[in-house]
Amino acid sequence: MPGRDAFTAPGRFYRGNIHTHSTRSDGALTPDEVCRRYAEEGYDFLCLSDHFLKQFGFPITNTEPYRTNRMTTILGAEIHAPQNSQGEIWHLLACGLPEDFPPLGDDEDAVSLARRSVEAGAFLGIAHPNWSSLSIEDGRQMAGLAHAVEIWNTGCAIECDRGDGGYFLDMLLNEGNRLGAYAADDAHFKIADGFGGWMMVKAETNEPEAILAAMKAGHSYSSQGPEIAALAVRDGRLEIACSPAGTIAVLGRGSRAESAIGSGLTEASLDLSRFSGDWCRVVVTDASGRRAWTNPLWL
Ligand SMILES: [Zn+2]
Ligand SMILES: [Zn+2]
Repeated sequence: MPGRDAFTAPGRFYRGNIHTHSTRSDGALTPDEVCRRYAEEGYDFLCLSDHFLKQFGFPITNTEPYRTNRMTTILGAEIHAPQNSQGEIWHLLACGLPEDFPPLGDDEDAVSLARRSVEAGAFLGIAHPNWSSLSIEDGRQMAGLAHAVEIWNTGCAIECDRGDGGYFLDMLLNEGNRLGAYAADDAHFKIADGFGGWMMVKAETNEPEAILAAMKAGHSYSSQGPEIAALAVRDGRLEIACSPAGTIAVLGRGSRAESAIGSGLTEASLDLSRFSGDWCRVVVTDASGRRAWTNPLWL
């Protein structure tokens, strides 16, 4: 049951960003400087995900030299292929690729590229669906391959108010697809697009393999600031503990939602009867409007 497992799985939470760019594609900073900045911010892991495009030489940067005592790195890329419903190239986040992942084939489409990346070991995310104006049909093409939808993209939010992926995720969940949610920066460092949204991944060690396995298993939540300390389903109720919040909401199919609203809430118990036999997910919002998102739960 992805989502819930994060809070009972062994280990501790590690904070990471899996979507960011460097001078290997269209970012402003060199790979070592990008890694240095995330390490300095106290991140536990980082995936440099430059645009895997011919014009940049299909880059997958070996970031192992930039690991620190605290921060590890995962190799990956933002992979692209023709074409989505808007006639534009797909943007998919492949976190966990080998350095020698083969370039896009001459007539290769996005589904083929996505499948290859998953077979090569990647955690596959549908990047910034709102920024790309992806349709539900686009989502259906990838729903059987992707592990998760990018529910938050800091860069897209700052640039054009298209940072949220919740609506797109919910449409796919309503069709029975089992997809998680992840927040990421997509930082290019041309503007202040770093450190605005991240994953909290529960794993026993901060090793790339352990982090990737936990991500694929759904042992994570995502945040812009709020912390979720505990989450459990008991007697038909969702019990949650978190850092001080203004709203703790559980939402599901259609307009279904239950919420606790107040000031400095650190726990809530919400009735799950309206979500029985279906999916739901939790969003915690603090007094500054910053959010934390769990993966969906299937009850
Ligand atoms: Zn992109
Ligand atoms: Zn990107």
